[in-house]
Amino acid sequence: MKKSSASHYQRLVFCIFCFSLLLLVPRVSSSSPPTQHSNHGSSDSTEGRTLRQEQGSHEIHCSRERSRAAWKIVEEYLMPFVEKEKYQITKRCRLHPDNDLYRDQEQHKSHIDINEWQCGYCKKSFYEEKNLDLHFDNRHSNLLDLSQRKCLADVCGALHCDQITNSGGTKSKCNPAAAARNKHLCESLADSCFPVSEGPAAGRIHEFFLRQFCDAHTCTGRQKPFSRGRRKKMNVLYLVVSILVVMMLILFYLYVFLYQRGMKRGTQVLRRISQTNRKKKPS
Ligand SMILES: [Zn+2]
Repeated sequence: MKKSSASHYQRLVFCIFCFSLLLLVPRVSSSSPPTQHSNHGSSDSTEGRTLRQEQGSHEIHCSRERSRAAWKIVEEYLMPFVEKEKYQITKRCRLHPDNDLYRDQEQHKSHIDINEWQCGYCKKSFYEEKNLDLHFDNRHSNLLDLSQRKCLADVCGALHCDQITNSGGTKSKCNPAAAARNKHLCESLADSCFPVSEGPAAGRIHEFFLRQFCDAHTCTGRQKPFSRGRRKKMNVLYLVVSILVVMMLILFYLYVFLYQRGMKRGTQVLRRISQTNRKKKPS
């Protein structure tokens, strides 16, 4: 009777173990390309990559990639420190979200799966982000507000966008004139976004901005950009995998423990049976 309850436990633990393994499987298989896509960008990719939407007589001369790189830098290397100071960036500052031509479109991107990007305006899906970018250029360029919005990519020189866009790529030779120009742009950004006259918080971020972005605009190579660090993000996938591994380890040891206990009980029962048999034999 005891042996059967122990093996029942073993079976139960084994089932939980298998179930947790099954939970892992969809995550692994989700990395393979989805089979059904309403549109994987082939129709849009034929229409050309460069932005040449005619909006009246307007032609868009603003790189989406570089705007995105600039936004990423602002998000990671500036905003955590601005938020810490509880400082509000005004629209006068070129780093304000309203001054990014592509901000609204970028906010209408959904990264559903590793190979699935969805347009938030019309819900079409694409395998790659660049196909969705093309789709925005070709289908939703009418949503871009060209009257007031400025191009965030224009401040890329000051923000060191090249550090993000060609990471690990070829390093171009430093041009002292370009470095001086970028330093000037960088300092003017610090002045317009965080005017020292606006109080101690603005003064502190102004100082931070100069150290974080402007000091590295030299050809000496002594100063590195983003010297003050970045936002520390907890990797969600890493967390999920860690929890699953710990869960599986616990279940494994529980299984081994119950198995051994079952074995011990089994041998005890056998011993008892043999002992009673021995006692019975003389009579
Ligand atoms: Zn769309």
